[in-house]
Amino acid sequence: MKLDQVFKNNEKWIKEKLILDSNYFENLGKGQNPELLFIGCSDSRVTAEELMGLGPGEAFVHRNIANMVSGTDLNVMSVVEYAVVHLKVNHVVVCGHYACGGVKAAMQSADLGILNPWLRNIRDVYRIHKNELNGITSEEDKYDRLVELNVQEQCVNLIKTAAVQKAARDRGLKVHGWVFDVHTGNLIDLKIDFENILKNIMEIYHLD
Ligand SMILES: [Zn+2]
Repeated sequence: MKLDQVFKNNEKWIKEKLILDSNYFENLGKGQNPELLFIGCSDSRVTAEELMGLGPGEAFVHRNIANMVSGTDLNVMSVVEYAVVHLKVNHVVVCGHYACGGVKAAMQSADLGILNPWLRNIRDVYRIHKNELNGITSEEDKYDRLVELNVQEQCVNLIKTAAVQKAARDRGLKVHGWVFDVHTGNLIDLKIDFENILKNIMEIYHLD
């Protein structure tokens, strides 16, 4: 890929947008009002807007290695606070993906430097679901399942925040867990039982 091409692509994209709507950028400049916060993996194959068929202004996006929602990560916590409290999104999505390098690295024993504390959060997911995961004989299936369980646990981490608890109560905000299948392009809804998780964890994590 030549980087020159990126700027040529940009010029072409501007022309295409203006043909459809001559006020496109004028409107885009006025502000944003997205319905959705998308928390995905930094993996270059998991292109947030493109795989959902959304354009500029439609999704607030945060991506990091293995789509983690760590309570001590100022970056993701600021994104959640801003999107939920200020932009007032009504849906928060954690989107994992099969063949996730971050999840795979956490399944192996290796010293990966500064990645160690990051991946430790995924190892914690493994520990919480050890019985189920150790019962899966195929390494490939175990890996896929850990990707799904990691999404589920990051949804739980979202529900632990005061911002999400308040927005769920006040305006019915929902948390969703999805997985993108890089082998087929399918976006799969894990149908995480938000109401039930919320009810169960409120006993311990109730903040509002
Ligand atoms: Zn990944």
